[in-house]
Amino acid sequence: MDSLPVCPDPALLAAYLDGTLFSRDASAVDHHTSTCARCAGILAAMRADRAAVQSSKWLSPWTIGGVVTAVTIVAIGTWVVLRGATNPDVAPPSAPTA
Ligand SMILES: [Zn+2]
Repeated sequence: MDSLPVCPDPALLAAYLDGTLFSRDASAVDHHTSTCARCAGILAAMRADRAAVQSSKWLSPWTIGGVVTAVTIVAIGTWVVLRGATNPDVAPPSAPTA
């Protein structure tokens, strides 16, 4: 398997950034993000946020943990929204009828 058949879960992208994936899985994520603009964007956002956190040495570990958690939640939310937007089976929310 050279690439992932579907977009990886944001948690998998986070593990990829952490370097905690097996080399085969990391290669698959690497190949997928080289061909998928959406995942490449999510990965770039995660990298930027982590760089910002690492450059802010005055932050406490608790604050860093909160930022990392917030970034992960935003990434998962973005993934879910984009996934729903591209899935024709998911109907958009209907407007309330008066
Ligand atoms: Zn993707």
